[in-house]
Amino acid sequence: MSMPKGLAAATGMDALTHAIEGYITKGAWELTDMFHLKAIEIIGRSLRASVAGDVKAREDMALAQYVAGMGFSNVGLGLVHGMAHPLSARYNAPHGVACATLLPTILKYNADYTGEKYRDIAKALGVNNVDAMSLEEARVAAVEAVAQLGKDVGIPQTIAELGVKEEDIPAIAKDAFADVCTGGNPRDTSIEEIEMLYKSLL
Ligand SMILES: [Zn+2]
Repeated sequence: MSMPKGLAAATGMDALTHAIEGYITKGAWELTDMFHLKAIEIIGRSLRASVAGDVKAREDMALAQYVAGMGFSNVGLGLVHGMAHPLSARYNAPHGVACATLLPTILKYNADYTGEKYRDIAKALGVNNVDAMSLEEARVAAVEAVAQLGKDVGIPQTIAELGVKEEDIPAIAKDAFADVCTGGNPRDTSIEEIEMLYKSLL
């Protein structure tokens, strides 16, 4: 209840990243899907108000992060966490801020490897008329809803704002590729592709 706005935003976006990466990770299954979708829904309706200091929304976020934790602790995460960890280790970026800055870009990168799951994510985030959309449209809508939520709670839009310089990218890409979370990503990746993703976020 006493968390400042920036910490509420960062930890809340971290919980959203746990829920979304857990929902699309390779090991996801019915039981963890249930937890992750519910967490996405609660975060989608509560995070903005929680950051603004609303007491009920703060309580909702405490519940949502716990529900997401019950999911992802069983199935793991993905490339957002794999690429976020080096940003915290080398630049002292708060974990949730690092995850949230990367999240929309990595969601776009993973889109073709997620079946209908982005449609579910868009619905859980309250996007209208998702059932009438093509799969492609639903995927775009899901990524846009996540990106808008991050913007609304003040997440940086570039990794340059976190202190990353272009010449550092080969080293952090190597670390990200070796990270324990990266293997859970729905799309198999490479050091070269991770470098490209970091570069696109400078
Ligand atoms: Zn996290």
